[in-house]
Amino acid sequence: MNKLKDFIEKKMSMSHIYQPVMIKVLLENGGTADKKTIAQNILSYDFSQVEYYEGITNNMVGRVLRKNEVVSRYKNIYDLKLFKDLSSSEIQELIDLCDQKIEEYINQRGTKIWEHRRRNRKAIPGSTRYKVLKRADGRCELCGISKEEKALEVDHIIPKNNGGEDSIDNYQALCFSCNANKRDTDDTDFRNLNVKYQTRLSDCIFCNISRNIIAENELSIAFYDKFPVTSKHVLVIPKRHCNDYFELSQPEINAMNRLTHELKTKLSKEDTSITGYNIGFNTGSDAGQTVFHCHMHLIPRRKGDVENPIGGVRNLIPGKGDYKPKLH
Ligand code: 5GP
Ligand code: ZN
Repeated sequence: MNKLKDFIEKKMSMSHIYQPVMIKVLLENGGTADKKTIAQNILSYDFSQVEYYEGITNNMVGRVLRKNEVVSRYKNIYDLKLFKDLSSSEIQELIDLCDQKIEEYINQRGTKIWEHRRRNRKAIPGSTRYKVLKRADGRCELCGISKEEKALEVDHIIPKNNGGEDSIDNYQALCFSCNANKRDTDDTDFRNLNVKYQTRLSDCIFCNISRNIIAENELSIAFYDKFPVTSKHVLVIPKRHCNDYFELSQPEINAMNRLTHELKTKLSKEDTSITGYNIGFNTGSDAGQTVFHCHMHLIPRRKGDVENPIGGVRNLIPGKGDYKPKLH
Protein backbone atom coordinates (compact mmCIF):
# COMPACT_ATOMS: atom_id res chain seq x y z
CA MET A 1 0.00 0.00 0.00
CA ASN A 2 2.67 2.47 1.02
CA LYS A 3 4.70 1.89 -2.12
CA LEU A 4 1.71 2.53 -4.37
CA LYS A 5 0.58 5.50 -2.32
CA ASP A 6 4.07 6.93 -2.44
CA PHE A 7 4.19 6.47 -6.19
CA ILE A 8 0.81 8.14 -6.77
CA GLU A 9 1.46 10.95 -4.34
CA LYS A 10 5.09 11.75 -5.03
CA LYS A 11 6.74 9.90 -7.88
CA MET A 12 4.09 9.89 -10.59
CA SER A 13 5.10 12.57 -13.05
CA MET A 14 2.01 13.34 -15.11
CA SER A 15 1.96 14.64 -18.66
CA HIS A 16 -1.71 13.67 -18.91
CA ILE A 17 -4.37 11.95 -16.80
CA TYR A 18 -3.43 8.51 -18.15
CA GLN A 19 -1.44 7.13 -15.21
CA PRO A 20 -3.97 7.70 -12.40
CA VAL A 21 -6.81 6.54 -14.70
CA MET A 22 -4.97 3.30 -15.45
CA ILE A 23 -4.10 2.64 -11.82
CA LYS A 24 -7.71 3.39 -10.82
CA VAL A 25 -9.09 0.97 -13.42
CA LEU A 26 -6.76 -1.74 -12.14
CA LEU A 27 -7.79 -1.05 -8.56
CA GLU A 28 -11.46 -1.20 -9.48
CA ASN A 29 -11.09 -4.45 -11.41
CA GLY A 30 -9.43 -6.66 -8.85
CA GLY A 31 -5.92 -5.70 -9.95
CA THR A 32 -6.21 -6.86 -13.57
CA ALA A 33 -7.60 -5.20 -16.69
CA ASP A 34 -7.05 -5.61 -20.39
CA LYS A 35 -5.85 -2.89 -22.75
CA LYS A 36 -9.33 -2.27 -24.11
CA THR A 37 -10.87 -1.70 -20.67
CA ILE A 38 -8.11 0.74 -19.77
CA ALA A 39 -8.52 2.58 -23.08
CA GLN A 40 -12.31 2.77 -22.64
CA ASN A 41 -11.82 4.35 -19.24
CA ILE A 42 -9.42 6.95 -20.59
CA LEU A 43 -11.95 7.66 -23.34
CA SER A 44 -14.67 8.38 -20.78
CA TYR A 45 -12.63 11.39 -19.63
CA ASP A 46 -12.02 12.77 -23.11
CA PHE A 47 -14.69 15.42 -23.39
CA SER A 48 -13.69 16.24 -26.96
CA GLN A 49 -14.79 12.76 -28.02
CA VAL A 50 -17.88 12.92 -25.84
CA GLU A 51 -18.68 16.31 -27.36
CA TYR A 52 -18.54 14.78 -30.83
CA TYR A 53 -21.10 12.14 -29.86
CA GLU A 54 -23.24 14.74 -28.10
CA GLY A 55 -23.46 16.42 -31.50
CA ILE A 56 -24.49 13.14 -33.11
CA THR A 57 -27.02 12.53 -30.34
CA ASN A 58 -28.72 15.89 -30.72
CA ASN A 59 -28.50 16.43 -34.44
CA MET A 60 -28.83 12.97 -35.88
CA VAL A 61 -30.15 10.13 -33.77
CA GLY A 62 -32.09 12.29 -31.30
CA ARG A 63 -33.80 14.14 -34.11
CA VAL A 64 -34.84 10.93 -35.90
CA LEU A 65 -36.12 9.30 -32.73
CA ARG A 66 -38.09 12.39 -31.79
CA LYS A 67 -39.62 12.59 -35.24
CA ASN A 68 -40.73 8.99 -34.89
CA GLU A 69 -42.11 9.81 -31.46
CA VAL A 70 -39.90 7.24 -29.76
CA VAL A 71 -38.28 9.78 -27.47
CA SER A 72 -38.98 13.27 -26.20
CA ARG A 73 -36.44 15.83 -25.11
CA TYR A 74 -36.36 18.51 -22.48
CA LYS A 75 -33.12 20.53 -22.54
CA ASN A 76 -30.39 17.90 -22.26
CA ILE A 77 -32.64 15.11 -21.04
CA TYR A 78 -34.15 12.47 -23.30
CA ASP A 79 -37.12 10.36 -22.22
CA LEU A 80 -38.20 7.13 -23.83
CA LYS A 81 -41.93 7.51 -24.41
CA LEU A 82 -44.06 4.65 -23.04
CA PHE A 83 -41.20 3.56 -20.77
CA LYS A 84 -43.45 3.69 -17.72
CA ASP A 85 -45.81 1.15 -19.30
CA LEU A 86 -43.05 -1.45 -19.66
CA SER A 87 -42.62 -4.40 -17.33
CA SER A 88 -39.11 -5.42 -16.37
CA SER A 89 -39.23 -8.49 -18.60
CA GLU A 90 -40.40 -6.34 -21.50
CA ILE A 91 -37.51 -3.97 -20.83
CA GLN A 92 -35.06 -6.86 -20.94
CA GLU A 93 -36.62 -8.16 -24.15
CA LEU A 94 -36.21 -4.76 -25.79
CA ILE A 95 -32.60 -4.46 -24.59
CA ASP A 96 -31.87 -7.85 -26.14
CA LEU A 97 -33.52 -6.72 -29.36
CA CYS A 98 -31.33 -3.59 -29.47
CA ASP A 99 -28.23 -5.73 -28.84
CA GLN A 100 -29.30 -7.99 -31.68
CA LYS A 101 -29.73 -5.03 -34.05
CA ILE A 102 -26.32 -3.61 -33.09
CA GLU A 103 -24.66 -6.95 -33.61
CA GLU A 104 -26.38 -7.55 -36.94
CA TYR A 105 -25.30 -4.14 -38.22
CA ILE A 106 -21.68 -4.58 -37.15
CA ASN A 107 -21.57 -8.09 -38.61
CA GLN A 108 -22.90 -6.80 -41.90
CA ARG A 109 -20.75 -3.71 -42.27
CA GLY A 110 -17.66 -4.62 -40.27
CA THR A 111 -15.33 -2.12 -38.60
CA LYS A 112 -15.62 0.27 -41.53
CA ILE A 113 -18.55 1.95 -39.77
CA TRP A 114 -15.96 3.71 -37.60
CA GLU A 115 -13.59 4.44 -40.44
CA HIS A 116 -14.60 8.12 -40.62
CA ARG A 117 -13.30 8.57 -37.07
CA ARG A 118 -9.92 7.05 -37.75
CA ARG A 119 -9.42 7.93 -41.38
CA ASN A 120 -6.14 9.80 -41.03
CA ARG A 121 -4.89 8.49 -37.75
CA LYS A 122 -3.62 5.26 -39.11
CA ALA A 123 -1.84 6.80 -42.03
CA ILE A 124 0.16 9.57 -40.36
CA PRO A 125 3.44 8.56 -38.76
CA GLY A 126 4.13 9.84 -35.25
CA SER A 127 7.14 11.91 -36.27
CA THR A 128 5.09 13.78 -38.89
CA ARG A 129 2.27 14.31 -36.42
CA TYR A 130 4.79 15.79 -33.99
CA LYS A 131 6.21 18.16 -36.63
CA VAL A 132 2.75 19.36 -37.65
CA LEU A 133 1.69 20.00 -34.06
CA LYS A 134 4.95 21.80 -33.41
CA ARG A 135 4.51 23.95 -36.50
CA ALA A 136 0.96 24.79 -35.37
CA ASP A 137 2.34 25.80 -31.97
CA GLY A 138 -0.10 23.47 -30.26
CA ARG A 139 -3.14 25.30 -31.56
CA CYS A 140 -5.96 24.48 -33.97
CA GLU A 141 -5.02 26.05 -37.30
CA LEU A 142 -8.66 26.94 -37.98
CA CYS A 143 -10.10 28.30 -34.72
CA GLY A 144 -6.90 28.82 -32.72
CA ILE A 145 -7.96 26.90 -29.60
CA SER A 146 -5.05 25.40 -27.66
CA LYS A 147 -4.39 21.70 -27.34
CA GLU A 148 -4.92 21.94 -23.60
CA GLU A 149 -8.53 22.87 -24.20
CA LYS A 150 -9.39 20.57 -27.09
CA ALA A 151 -7.61 17.54 -28.45
CA LEU A 152 -5.84 18.30 -31.72
CA GLU A 153 -5.89 15.99 -34.70
CA VAL A 154 -3.53 16.00 -37.62
CA ASP A 155 -5.49 16.13 -40.82
CA HIS A 156 -4.76 15.98 -44.54
CA ILE A 157 -5.69 19.37 -46.03
CA ILE A 158 -6.37 17.69 -49.34
CA PRO A 159 -7.69 14.22 -48.54
CA LYS A 160 -5.41 11.36 -49.39
CA ASN A 161 -8.03 9.63 -51.48
CA ASN A 162 -8.34 12.80 -53.55
CA GLY A 163 -4.67 12.78 -54.41
CA GLY A 164 -3.45 14.73 -51.35
CA GLU A 165 0.22 14.12 -50.66
CA ASP A 166 1.73 12.67 -47.51
CA SER A 167 3.99 15.72 -47.46
CA ILE A 168 4.22 17.86 -44.32
CA ASP A 169 2.78 20.79 -46.28
CA ASN A 170 -0.46 18.93 -46.85
CA TYR A 171 -1.13 18.51 -43.14
CA GLN A 172 -2.78 20.79 -40.66
CA ALA A 173 -3.53 20.55 -36.97
CA LEU A 174 -7.23 20.85 -36.29
CA CYS A 175 -9.13 20.62 -33.04
CA PHE A 176 -11.65 17.90 -32.73
CA SER A 177 -14.63 20.13 -33.47
CA CYS A 178 -13.14 21.87 -36.52
CA ASN A 179 -12.06 18.55 -37.97
CA ALA A 180 -15.48 16.96 -37.51
CA ASN A 181 -17.08 20.06 -38.95
CA LYS A 182 -14.76 20.02 -41.93
CA ARG A 183 -15.60 16.39 -42.66
CA ASP A 184 -19.29 17.08 -42.52
CA THR A 185 -19.32 20.27 -44.56
CA ASP A 186 -16.32 20.23 -46.87
CA ASP A 187 -17.59 19.93 -50.41
CA THR A 188 -14.44 21.19 -52.12
CA ASP A 189 -13.99 19.47 -55.41
CA PHE A 190 -10.57 17.90 -55.15
CA ARG A 191 -10.98 15.63 -58.13
CA ASN A 192 -8.72 17.47 -60.52
CA LEU A 193 -6.15 18.40 -57.97
CA ASN A 194 -3.23 16.40 -59.25
CA VAL A 195 -3.92 17.77 -62.67
CA LYS A 196 -4.13 21.28 -61.21
CA TYR A 197 -0.69 20.99 -59.58
CA GLN A 198 0.78 20.06 -62.94
CA THR A 199 -0.33 23.35 -64.51
CA ARG A 200 2.58 24.98 -66.40
CA LEU A 201 2.37 27.60 -69.12
CA SER A 202 4.70 27.23 -72.07
CA ASP A 203 5.17 30.98 -72.44
CA CYS A 204 5.72 31.75 -68.72
CA ILE A 205 9.37 32.36 -67.78
CA PHE A 206 8.92 31.08 -64.24
CA CYS A 207 7.11 27.91 -65.32
CA ASN A 208 10.16 27.19 -67.43
CA ILE A 209 12.91 28.08 -64.96
CA SER A 210 15.27 25.15 -64.82
CA ARG A 211 18.67 26.74 -64.24
CA ASN A 212 20.06 27.93 -60.91
CA ILE A 213 17.39 26.41 -58.72
CA ILE A 214 18.80 26.72 -55.23
CA ALA A 215 16.11 25.02 -53.16
CA GLU A 216 13.08 22.91 -53.87
CA ASN A 217 10.33 20.91 -52.22
CA GLU A 218 7.17 19.15 -53.35
CA LEU A 219 5.24 22.23 -54.43
CA SER A 220 7.70 25.12 -54.60
CA ILE A 221 11.12 26.16 -55.88
CA ALA A 222 13.53 29.01 -55.29
CA PHE A 223 16.12 30.64 -57.52
CA TYR A 224 18.18 33.82 -57.60
CA ASP A 225 16.58 36.88 -59.12
CA LYS A 226 18.19 37.75 -62.44
CA PHE A 227 18.17 41.46 -61.60
CA PRO A 228 18.86 41.38 -57.87
CA VAL A 229 17.93 44.29 -55.65
CA THR A 230 20.70 43.17 -53.27
CA SER A 231 23.19 40.33 -53.47
CA LYS A 232 21.49 36.90 -53.12
CA HIS A 233 18.00 38.26 -53.78
CA VAL A 234 15.88 35.10 -54.09
CA LEU A 235 12.47 34.40 -55.59
CA VAL A 236 10.32 31.66 -54.10
CA ILE A 237 7.56 30.42 -56.39
CA PRO A 238 4.90 27.72 -56.48
CA LYS A 239 5.72 25.11 -59.14
CA ARG A 240 2.17 25.36 -60.39
CA HIS A 241 1.41 28.35 -62.55
CA CYS A 242 -0.88 30.81 -60.84
CA ASN A 243 -0.95 34.58 -61.08
CA ASP A 244 -0.48 35.80 -57.56
CA TYR A 245 -0.46 35.21 -53.83
CA PHE A 246 -4.23 35.08 -53.56
CA GLU A 247 -4.43 32.08 -55.87
CA LEU A 248 -2.15 29.93 -53.72
CA SER A 249 -3.54 26.87 -51.99
CA GLN A 250 -2.77 26.26 -48.33
CA PRO A 251 -0.33 23.40 -49.10
CA GLU A 252 1.52 25.75 -51.48
CA ILE A 253 1.67 28.46 -48.83
CA ASN A 254 3.03 25.88 -46.40
CA ALA A 255 5.57 24.66 -48.94
CA MET A 256 6.77 28.19 -49.79
CA ASN A 257 6.92 29.10 -46.14
CA ARG A 258 9.01 26.06 -45.35
CA LEU A 259 11.35 26.80 -48.25
CA THR A 260 11.70 30.40 -47.08
CA HIS A 261 12.83 29.23 -43.65
CA GLU A 262 15.35 26.86 -45.22
CA LEU A 263 16.66 29.64 -47.47
CA LYS A 264 17.01 32.04 -44.59
CA THR A 265 19.13 29.51 -42.73
CA LYS A 266 21.21 28.79 -45.82
CA LEU A 267 21.76 32.42 -46.84
CA SER A 268 22.49 33.69 -43.35
CA LYS A 269 25.01 30.90 -42.89
CA GLU A 270 26.88 31.36 -46.17
CA ASP A 271 26.81 35.16 -46.09
CA THR A 272 27.33 36.55 -42.62
CA SER A 273 27.07 40.12 -43.91
CA ILE A 274 23.28 39.59 -44.12
CA THR A 275 21.66 41.24 -41.11
CA GLY A 276 18.00 41.43 -42.16
CA TYR A 277 15.45 40.56 -44.86
CA ASN A 278 12.57 42.12 -46.72
CA ILE A 279 9.95 39.61 -47.80
CA GLY A 280 7.11 40.42 -50.13
CA PHE A 281 4.70 39.74 -52.93
CA ASN A 282 3.82 42.23 -55.61
CA THR A 283 0.22 41.55 -56.53
CA GLY A 284 -1.23 43.16 -59.64
CA SER A 285 0.45 45.52 -62.11
CA ASP A 286 -0.65 48.57 -60.13
CA ALA A 287 1.32 47.20 -57.22
CA GLY A 288 4.33 46.73 -59.47
CA GLN A 289 4.05 43.07 -60.46
CA THR A 290 5.84 42.41 -63.74
CA VAL A 291 5.95 38.62 -63.94
CA PHE A 292 2.54 37.03 -63.62
CA HIS A 293 3.58 33.78 -62.10
CA CYS A 294 3.19 34.18 -58.35
CA HIS A 295 6.56 34.78 -56.65
CA MET A 296 7.80 35.90 -53.28
CA HIS A 297 10.83 38.17 -53.03
CA LEU A 298 13.30 37.27 -50.30
CA ILE A 299 15.66 40.23 -50.24
CA PRO A 300 18.71 40.05 -47.96
CA ARG A 301 19.57 43.30 -46.25
CA ARG A 302 22.86 44.40 -44.78
CA LYS A 303 23.69 47.00 -42.23
CA GLY A 304 24.34 50.28 -43.99
CA ASP A 305 23.15 49.10 -47.46
CA VAL A 306 21.04 52.25 -47.63
CA GLU A 307 21.45 55.42 -45.69
CA ASN A 308 18.14 55.19 -43.86
CA PRO A 309 16.46 51.75 -43.88
CA ILE A 310 13.55 52.85 -41.70
CA GLY A 311 10.17 51.69 -42.98
CA GLY A 312 11.52 48.89 -45.24
CA VAL A 313 8.70 47.89 -47.57
CA ARG A 314 6.92 51.15 -46.74
CA ASN A 315 9.45 52.78 -49.06
CA LEU A 316 7.69 51.36 -52.10
CA ILE A 317 5.80 54.64 -51.99
CA PRO A 318 8.73 57.07 -52.10
CA GLY A 319 9.02 59.21 -49.03
CA LYS A 320 6.64 57.12 -46.92
CA GLY A 321 9.26 54.95 -45.25
CA ASP A 322 10.39 57.12 -42.42
CA TYR A 323 7.04 57.89 -40.84
CA LYS A 324 6.49 60.07 -37.85
CA PRO A 325 4.07 58.45 -35.44
CA LYS A 326 1.27 60.78 -34.46
CA LEU A 327 1.18 61.02 -30.69
CA HIS A 328 -2.13 62.84 -30.43
P1 5GP B 1 7.82 41.46 -59.89
O1 5GP B 1 8.12 42.84 -60.26
O2 5GP B 1 6.84 40.79 -60.80
O3 5GP B 1 7.43 41.30 -58.43
O4 5GP B 1 9.17 40.68 -59.94
C1 5GP B 1 9.66 39.95 -61.00
C2 5GP B 1 11.06 39.63 -60.64
O5 5GP B 1 11.53 38.63 -61.52
C3 5GP B 1 12.01 40.79 -60.77
O6 5GP B 1 12.68 41.02 -59.54
C4 5GP B 1 12.97 40.37 -61.86
O7 5GP B 1 14.28 40.79 -61.59
C5 5GP B 1 12.86 38.91 -61.86
N1 5GP B 1 13.06 38.27 -63.16
C6 5GP B 1 12.52 38.67 -64.34
N2 5GP B 1 12.88 37.81 -65.33
C7 5GP B 1 13.65 36.87 -64.76
C8 5GP B 1 14.32 35.72 -65.25
O8 5GP B 1 14.27 35.39 -66.42
N3 5GP B 1 15.02 34.97 -64.38
C9 5GP B 1 15.09 35.29 -63.04
N4 5GP B 1 15.80 34.50 -62.25
N5 5GP B 1 14.47 36.36 -62.54
C10 5GP B 1 13.76 37.14 -63.37
ZN1 ZN C 1 4.09 30.20 -64.70
